[in-house]
Amino acid sequence: MTDNTNTKAIQSLDAQHHLHPFTNTGALNKKGPMVIDRAEGVYLWDSEGNKILDGMAGLWCVNMGYGRKELADAAYQQMQQLPYYNTFFQTTHAPAAELAKEIASVTPGDLNHIFFAGSGSEAIDTIIRMVRQYWNIEGKPYKNILISRENAYHGSTVGGTSLGGMGGMHGQGGPLLPGIERICQPYWYGEGGDLSEEAFGLKCAQALEEKILAVGPDNVAAFVAEPIQGAGGVIVPPANYWAEIQRICKKYDVLLACDEVICGFGRTGSWFGSDTLGITPDIMSMAKGLSSGYLPISAVAVGDRISNAFIEHDDDFNHGFTYSGHPASAAVALANIKLMKKENIVEYVGKDIGPYLQKKLRDTLGDHPLVGHIEGMGLVAGIALVKDKETKEGFGDDIDIGMICRDHCFENGLIMRAVGSRMILSPPLVISHAEVDELVEKALLCFNLTLKSVS
Ligand SMILES: *Cc1c(COP(=O)(O)O)cnc(C)c1O
Repeated sequence: MTDNTNTKAIQSLDAQHHLHPFTNTGALNKKGPMVIDRAEGVYLWDSEGNKILDGMAGLWCVNMGYGRKELADAAYQQMQQLPYYNTFFQTTHAPAAELAKEIASVTPGDLNHIFFAGSGSEAIDTIIRMVRQYWNIEGKPYKNILISRENAYHGSTVGGTSLGGMGGMHGQGGPLLPGIERICQPYWYGEGGDLSEEAFGLKCAQALEEKILAVGPDNVAAFVAEPIQGAGGVIVPPANYWAEIQRICKKYDVLLACDEVICGFGRTGSWFGSDTLGITPDIMSMAKGLSSGYLPISAVAVGDRISNAFIEHDDDFNHGFTYSGHPASAAVALANIKLMKKENIVEYVGKDIGPYLQKKLRDTLGDHPLVGHIEGMGLVAGIALVKDKETKEGFGDDIDIGMICRDHCFENGLIMRAVGSRMILSPPLVISHAEVDELVEKALLCFNLTLKSVS
């Protein structure tokens, strides 16, 4: 599998027939994609036999690492016993029922009812329809506006795109959904100006209150946000931000929805980002880490207020997906959560390897001339690359510093993602101390190469 002819053959098929997501396919076809062949632990191997440290856990999802036999076995056994059955028509099956209970055992507060879907985007679409239908049941159909944030990522269905705050996405495939409003993101390093972190945190949270008053509290269904923004560049809000957001949601009876698709399942050092940041949501979405990416599955965890309304309302909720609670995906997710508990992985991230990575990044890269700022929690981090550390001045439009750095990483056996000029890390939660050392040493090497490329 590791000879060059095979690589060329796959690249050729790919160029002829494969349209890639979030990609300039024409440009990629000329260059040829890296062909990923196999994986074990935190490492990938490409079709040329190169070993690559996966600093992104796939797409923030392979939390328990590659090659976990327990997860493959769970899928294999379930596929032989019952590969598929739906949960629409007054039927259920053990994997869906047991997984719902298992998720409820780790979710915060009273989020004890679970609606299944197939992807993070579908979970977000479910939240959009569910919170609006909730207010409809409560006799307030006009309370249907959702408020989200600039530079938020909530997936790429029409619902997810509309709710998210990504300009590059809004410019394509519109028109977007009506009934969505956005406020600023709490990105203190990039947008805080002269304000202290605390003052900026307060200001960004109070933007929610201003928006609610502008559109009318009676018209606002929910505020939706990631506890820590992921695809937007790993943005950790100021410490006072979430408490103020919660105060405002309570005051105006606006539901609080957390998009935990990245933060969920240990990423920030607790089961959910909501736990780490002290948030009590009414409803939340989860996906990526739920099955460690081994099979597609997502879920919406619903608190008593909303679930009681749906359960007591004598009518169908006309929403669902063919693969809601898919038995094989559910069996894998169930095995994944059990494995996480057995290996105490959340505690490992919260108390050991998370703080270790955060310190190592700051100690090794904090003084680097390209590094403006490092932020993160647990095993997720964002590093702002700048031209001038003192003034925070960036490189301007003609130098795509993030892409230059990412290319050096690829060439040197490290997967690190670039979001604009921010470098992103989200390694598997099972990463060892020695592997963190290797990751950070490789990052330093690549930052040095990047600096050379632009000087
Ligand atoms: C990835 C992501 C989504 C979308 O999930 P898909 O499975 O790609 O549809 C939604 N919200 C957040 C926060 C994400 O990171």
